[in-house]
Amino acid sequence: MRKKLSIKNKIVLSVTGVIIVFGVIASAATFFVSKQNFITIKKEDIKLQAIEQSHEIGQIFINSDRMIEAGAKEKSLAGYLENGSQMKDMTILETLNHYNIGNVFDPIYILNKDGVAVVSSDPTLLGNNYNFREYFKRASNGEPFIEAAIGSTTGRSGYYFAHPIRGADESIVGVLVGKISGGIVDESLRESTLAQSGKVMFIDSDGVVFYSSIPDRLYKSIGPLSAEKKKELMNNKRFGDLVISELQYSQIVDVIHGYTNPVVLDFYDAADKENEIITVVHIPNAPFFLIAEADTDNLVTSALAVSIWLSIAALFAALLAALFIYISSARLLRPLGLLKAATEKIKTGDYTYQLTVATGDEFEDVSNAFGEMAKQLQSSYADLNQRVIEKTVALSNQLQEAKKSNAALQNTQRAVLNVLEDARLLELQIQEERDRLRGILSSMGEGLFVFDKDFRVLLANATTERILGIPLSHIEGALITDLITLYHGKTIVSNNERPIFKIVSEGVSIHSDVEDDLYWSIEGGRRFAVGFVAVPMVIGGVAGGVIVFRDLTLEKNLDDARTSFISITSHQLRTPLTSLKWFLEMLMDGSYAQPLTPEQKNFADLAYQSADRMMGIINLLLQIARVEAGRVKIVPVPTDLRVFAQGIVSSLGNAFSFRKQKVEVIAVPDPLPSVLVDNDVMGQVLQNLLSNANRYALENTTITVTFKVEGDVIVCSVADKGIGITKADATRIFEKFYRAENALRLVPEGSGLGLSLVKSLVEGWGGEIRFESEEWKGTTFFFTIPLAGMAARAGEVGIQIS
Ligand code: ADP
Repeated sequence: MRKKLSIKNKIVLSVTGVIIVFGVIASAATFFVSKQNFITIKKEDIKLQAIEQSHEIGQIFINSDRMIEAGAKEKSLAGYLENGSQMKDMTILETLNHYNIGNVFDPIYILNKDGVAVVSSDPTLLGNNYNFREYFKRASNGEPFIEAAIGSTTGRSGYYFAHPIRGADESIVGVLVGKISGGIVDESLRESTLAQSGKVMFIDSDGVVFYSSIPDRLYKSIGPLSAEKKKELMNNKRFGDLVISELQYSQIVDVIHGYTNPVVLDFYDAADKENEIITVVHIPNAPFFLIAEADTDNLVTSALAVSIWLSIAALFAALLAALFIYISSARLLRPLGLLKAATEKIKTGDYTYQLTVATGDEFEDVSNAFGEMAKQLQSSYADLNQRVIEKTVALSNQLQEAKKSNAALQNTQRAVLNVLEDARLLELQIQEERDRLRGILSSMGEGLFVFDKDFRVLLANATTERILGIPLSHIEGALITDLITLYHGKTIVSNNERPIFKIVSEGVSIHSDVEDDLYWSIEGGRRFAVGFVAVPMVIGGVAGGVIVFRDLTLEKNLDDARTSFISITSHQLRTPLTSLKWFLEMLMDGSYAQPLTPEQKNFADLAYQSADRMMGIINLLLQIARVEAGRVKIVPVPTDLRVFAQGIVSSLGNAFSFRKQKVEVIAVPDPLPSVLVDNDVMGQVLQNLLSNANRYALENTTITVTFKVEGDVIVCSVADKGIGITKADATRIFEKFYRAENALRLVPEGSGLGLSLVKSLVEGWGGEIRFESEEWKGTTFFFTIPLAGMAARAGEVGIQIS
């Protein structure tokens, strides 16, 4: 959590901070300014000191020069030199001493015009020739001269003051020389304040050092000396045999050459590695210069010290200010504390707290406003409280309601969860079913299609792929009508005649078998005989269909083989049978031989009947074979079906009367419209059905033949009250040679071929046949004839066997 700072501390901190920041800035500024000031002051100071010092030394030089000048003008000296021995040397020396006040000169001496020392306060000089000295050369030429040099006799350094001594005719007769000891100047300089606070040098006009507070520099040139100058020094032996080496002050060489006034320079002393101020001052009336050096680096330290003191002062001021502000703000901000306490009270809900601040400033205003606010708050709090109570009551009522509906919701939720659970289980079951179905489908020996109501294949199994010879990926999603062309025999079945259309449009199931003579021709594939069961898929309405099919090529081939076998064998059997019958007839009527005994006649009769039955069977087989081969011609003629049926009934009259049966022929409407039918074909159908009714109905019953117009067909039914057909036999009674067990037992005669022929004939004209039956109640066969009549067909043979 962020630490809270009181206003008091904030003020103290910020003011202290400001003072410290400004203190630092002020210290830095002070440092730079004071450094600069120190340097300026120092420069001025050193300059003044140097000037003062130069005057002091200058005074020595002026005095000395003046004394030598005065001495040179002493007539006795000129006289002495002009006259040689007129005067005692001692007297002359005394005269000289007169001009050596305080023995300032050491020595004072006279050189004659050849430069030989003739009189000297130092007797060692006497007789020596000093004509090589510069001061002699100059003075003997009339130019008074001051020179610094090392004594060639004494080896002591000093300053030589030389003035010409003139005779009565003003001609130069000698030179008066006074040498003051270098020590005088040295002492003066050594004791000067300059030397105490810095470095001091005393140089002549050639820049050679005659005094230095650093002894090492003595008799060195401050800058480079010209070769000429060096030679001159060698000649006049100013420094005896000393070789003058150089110091690194060439900057000053320029100054002394062009000297006018004292000069102060900023200088870096490379030898001592110091920043310095150098002052160069000329000694008045003498060819010498005073050089004073002061180190400026310590000035920076001084400036820094000032700044540090200032910083400490600033810090102290900051602390004082902080303390002062702390105390005064504690007093000033006291109302704020009261306000805070008041706020705390209000926070705890106590609005009665009285806040009294009489500072006469903004705090008082704020406190008053605060008091007002507290009052208002109190009233609005009371108001709010009331409203909260009301709202709480309302809310708790709502909560009760919500709890109730929540309970209901929970029940619903539970119910939904149960439903979801059921749905999940159901889904699992469906999944299982689906898996099982898939398993079943893929293991099915039959092909299978599932298609939607647009005849698009939704699903097909592996067997389909194998039978059709097309990959599943091409089958699924394709239209059945594109995939498969349906043939009935050799004729293409139009799309709206196809079973798939019927099952979708009529919702009926369709079964087809080998006798239906249907073929599938696969686009780009094979053509084969097919048998199938097609059922509608009902989800709400008809949503499509399912076809389970088999390739019947093998069965078809067998059936064809059987048909042709039947046809061939029937033909082959008919001829011998006809002969047999013929011979038996002859035998029986006795026209061929002797009349038969009654026993023989009976045997022959049985043989004849058997042959006749066999003939009947063979004829039926032949008829079936012809019908199935499509060889039977159809010649439709307008027919009144009721009248026609009556005719057939009459032709079978004996059989009915034999079993005491009545036959009714009913037409609805009566009369029926005339219909185009082939009478032979129609006759065969009615005859077979009526014969069956006759045989399988009970005695003393009525057989009813009905013709009824229904839509675009006439439905014909033959109803009997007889033994009936069991459920077990129902699917097989149209098969060739099939006879039901009850029929076999009760009616021994029968071939099991009649119904097969009837079915082939009815379907041959485009009709349908079916039956309804109940055991021991009776059987009704229904077949249809198009109201438009049978279509003519130019077949090879009629249905009647001749
Ligand atoms: P058949 O009558 O010579 O045996 P069909 O082909 O005419 O041969 O009939 C086949 C079988 O159908 C019969 O054997 C019989 O079992 C059954 N059947 C046909 N018609 C009837 C009927 N009206 N009542 C009961 N069963 C019948």
